[in-house]
Amino acid sequence: MTTDTTLSATSQPVEADAVIVGAGPAGLFQVFELGLLGIKSHIVDTLKHPGGQCAELYPDKPIYDIPALPVCGAQELVDRLMQQIKPFGPEFHFGEEVSALKAREDGRFDLQTSAGTRFIAKAVVIAAGLGSFQPRRLGVEGGEAFEGRQIHYRVKNAVDFHGKHLVIFGGGDSALDWVIDLSGKAASITQVHRRPEFRAAPASVARMKELVAAGKMKFVEGTAAALRIAGDQLTGVSVKRTDGGMEDLDADHLLAFFGLHPKLGPIADWGFALDKKAIAVDTAKFQTSVPGIFAIGDINTYPGKKKLILSGFHEAALAAFAIAEHLNPAKKVHLQYTTTSPIMQKRLGVNE
Ligand SMILES: Cc1cc2nc3c(=O)[nH]c(=O)nc-3n(C[C@H](O)[C@H](O)[C@H](O)COP(=O)(O)OP(=O)(O)OC[C@H]3O[C@@H](n4cnc5c(N)ncnc54)[C@H](O)[C@@H]3O)c2cc1C
Repeated sequence: MTTDTTLSATSQPVEADAVIVGAGPAGLFQVFELGLLGIKSHIVDTLKHPGGQCAELYPDKPIYDIPALPVCGAQELVDRLMQQIKPFGPEFHFGEEVSALKAREDGRFDLQTSAGTRFIAKAVVIAAGLGSFQPRRLGVEGGEAFEGRQIHYRVKNAVDFHGKHLVIFGGGDSALDWVIDLSGKAASITQVHRRPEFRAAPASVARMKELVAAGKMKFVEGTAAALRIAGDQLTGVSVKRTDGGMEDLDADHLLAFFGLHPKLGPIADWGFALDKKAIAVDTAKFQTSVPGIFAIGDINTYPGKKKLILSGFHEAALAAFAIAEHLNPAKKVHLQYTTTSPIMQKRLGVNE
């Protein structure tokens, strides 16, 4: 197995029985199934919150094909899963992307995240869905060279933008929140959005319009067309207005808030054979070609695979049994019912 990122000794590694990459519905239910078998999990997600596609792409939409729940909101499903896994005390690592995964000589695995967290895990479950949620980029030539320096897709430290000339792209809550927050603190703010309608809280839209009317900021309806560059510095951006005209805007920083979309990301470099961006697994254990590394949910593929939430739930159950055997090959794992198993009920905290 290969890795794109060298595992550097930035922090003391966390020793874990199981590390789950991805906190979508499949990863969350994996915590539950492992917990029933007495195995504690660490779960890592690039997003700052659990729920994967359900939470990020369609939180308000109803889902009709979760067994025994005739209708369930997507965010409600995530909330219910979080409630269900609570007794097992999983350790969450949100806002961190697993950037490297490497087999060790002792049969365990080294993992490292973008935040420098390191794990040594006996088993790994890749529950990465369609990939790691990443910000949508500005889509102008040469933009990558300025990322993190003068082009930003999130605000790490708002003070960095005080006294600066800013162009803020986007028409959602994040864009408007930062426009309002930085107004009066930045030297100037121009908001650029491709249409006059906004997908944001009405109160924020009203506040932004007040700021424009008071001459405290500018609004341009259009999209970024080209960067304006002098030497190695970004000096601004040319915007194509929706009325067809061009407008050159001076800026020290460009901030773009276009939402997030899933991108396979580092997994592509972990040495697995990929079939249409999915990892091949067997259907008894949902194990990859590497013993000890499992893949469940939308990220895996096998004959007949259907990318549905309930498929991920089933796969999590079987992977949990396989992981229990992997961790303790000498011990047979017997099927027990939650209805009647005292040990499972104890783990679930029933009657506590
Ligand atoms: C609009 C829409 C409607 C849908 N409706 C239904 C429906 O009605 N019924 C149904 O069954 N299914 C539905 N689906 C599909 C369903 O949402 C997916 O099957 C399900 O979300 C897959 O779950 P998952 O946990 O495998 O992956 P995801 O939900 O994609 O979660 C994967 C998580 O892994 C994280 N991740 C990936 N790589 C890394 C990394 N390297 N490091 C850290 N984190 C990483 C991602 O950030 C993400 O949060 C719908 C999908 C969409 C888009």
